[in-house]
Amino acid sequence: MKQPHQPGSEPDGHSVASPGRRAFFTRAAGVTAGLIGLAVAVPGRAHASPAAPAAGTAQSDWWFCQKCYTMFFHGYADNGRCPAGGAHSPQGYNFILPYGGAATPTAQSYWRFCPKCYSMHFEYYGPGPCPAGGGHIEQGFVFVLPHDIPATLTSQSDWRFCQKCFVMFFYGYADNGHCAAGGAHSAQGFDFVLPHA
Ligand SMILES: [Zn+2]
Ligand SMILES: [Zn+2]
Ligand SMILES: [Zn+2]
Repeated sequence: MKQPHQPGSEPDGHSVASPGRRAFFTRAAGVTAGLIGLAVAVPGRAHASPAAPAAGTAQSDWWFCQKCYTMFFHGYADNGRCPAGGAHSPQGYNFILPYGGAATPTAQSYWRFCPKCYSMHFEYYGPGPCPAGGGHIEQGFVFVLPHDIPATLTSQSDWRFCQKCFVMFFYGYADNGHCAAGGAHSAQGFDFVLPHA
């Protein structure tokens, strides 16, 4: 079911495939850490840095877009750029997504905010196509997202990686929304179970 070289493929569930990649990433995060206070203007969280996040922390204001089915950050006034046209449109739950800490067999790292389209996207393979043009870029927290655990009253399953545009999208409807790479999103890898209010 799971294909090789995709985010859900590591048999042990860890997202870090090579020590070299981890070393590079750590350096890159350190370089950009100084920008985070401005880049992610969430009140009370400007002290946080992706290079040294506190364990057990999470960010709210992540929402499902009812137009494209992408998980996007609703904490800014303009709601980013939607591949279905215009800005994303929030619906349903206010998701509270954990960041910082290490990946585990049931939590995958390398999920990031894109400041161009506001999507939650997986940056491990490099930039997927962004609906705002070019590729996604990563900014702010490094999210570590739970997968393949039971859903609860305060968590929702059926969130998946799109292997075409690299965003997190909701796979619970038949049509799979709109993808920045054209057509609908295409699910691959883990079944993410994301906490919400
Ligand atoms: Zn959208
Ligand atoms: Zn983007
Ligand atoms: Zn997609």
